[in-house]
Amino acid sequence: MSHVIIKQDECKGCKLCIKACPRGVLGVSDSINKLGYQPACVKVDSCIGCGICYYSCPEPGAISVFKDKKEQKNSN
Ligand code: SF4
Ligand code: SF4
Repeated sequence: MSHVIIKQDECKGCKLCIKACPRGVLGVSDSINKLGYQPACVKVDSCIGCGICYYSCPEPGAISVFKDKKEQKNSN
């Protein structure tokens, strides 16, 4: 299944990824990270692996996207 991993301590809480995601996957965490920000986190399990969040994020390495190869095949 396609999914994203957000490194909580790399995130500056700008919310660009949250606004950019077409599936409403991402939201704001209740916790505060070591930089003092409320980081983005995964809220719902409907990621399609499109990568838009990754390209919208100004922090290198904060978001990793894992695209399910079976889903990729099905969409071709
Ligand atoms: S990869 Fe696409 S669907 Fe998945 S969280 Fe990022 S923007 Fe949303
Ligand atoms: S775009 Fe990057 S820095 Fe901004 S909230 Fe999302 S993960 Fe954090």
